[in-house]
Amino acid sequence: MDIAVCVKHVATLGDEVELNDDATDVDPDYLEWTINEWDTYAVEEALRLREVAGGGEVVLVTVGDGGADESLRRGLAMGADRAVRIDPGEGAGILDPLTVAQALALAIDDVHPDLVLAGVQSSDAVQAATGTMVGQLLGLPTVAVVKRIELDPGAGRARVHRELEGGLVHVMEVATPAVLTVQTGINEPRYANLRAIKQAREKEIAVRDLDAGTRGCCRVERMFTPPAGETAEALGDDPAEIARRIVEIVTARLS
Ligand code: AMP
Repeated sequence: MDIAVCVKHVATLGDEVELNDDATDVDPDYLEWTINEWDTYAVEEALRLREVAGGGEVVLVTVGDGGADESLRRGLAMGADRAVRIDPGEGAGILDPLTVAQALALAIDDVHPDLVLAGVQSSDAVQAATGTMVGQLLGLPTVAVVKRIELDPGAGRARVHRELEGGLVHVMEVATPAVLTVQTGINEPRYANLRAIKQAREKEIAVRDLDAGTRGCCRVERMFTPPAGETAEALGDDPAEIARRIVEIVTARLS
């Protein structure tokens, strides 16, 4: 059972944020980086499914610069076998999900996996699009927001539970290979021990360049913090005072 897992190295914001000179991205000095939370669940799920299947490879795939190796090494320390990084090149800036998905799909195609896992969303871009795009580009059945996977490798299918609105669960059968986007809470991601972390440092990460032809269906025009306080007013905690203010505001608007 070979499983490819999409892993993103995501940016987290501190309390203070400054934008770069052309206001198209956050100044990198104000960012910290870590593995995307959703992807830790996807890696854990891949490791568990491989264990149940009794063998195979778990291959991590990312699109990112050298800094992304840190997240790949975290997944390798958890137990993944190898990792591939597609480097977008200097000054690539924020990549749109289609560009990323095209690069991921190319790399995943080489792995010929029995299953592909991604996270539902990345915490920094919040596109919730890349995993399903990979599925479309690979021409594979795709199921989003998966909370449980029961694999039947011999039969070439899986039973999956999808999370819907209001706590509803959608149980469906899907032919494999398939692409599943994994929701947090599907499992409890393991912590790597020190020995595994050290060993992961020695593992080789295969690096490829992003194919220039796959780049760019959208670009960021501007990033900004909306002005605070222009559209909302907190009316306090006291119900009588809130009611008095509402009457005051409505009366003022009507006059
Ligand atoms: P997004 O569409 O950005 O919300 O991300 C959804 C999922 O797609 C993530 O949880 C990852 O599994 C995958 N993904 C997004 N961007 C990347 C990337 N640059 N490298 C690898 N996987 C990614």
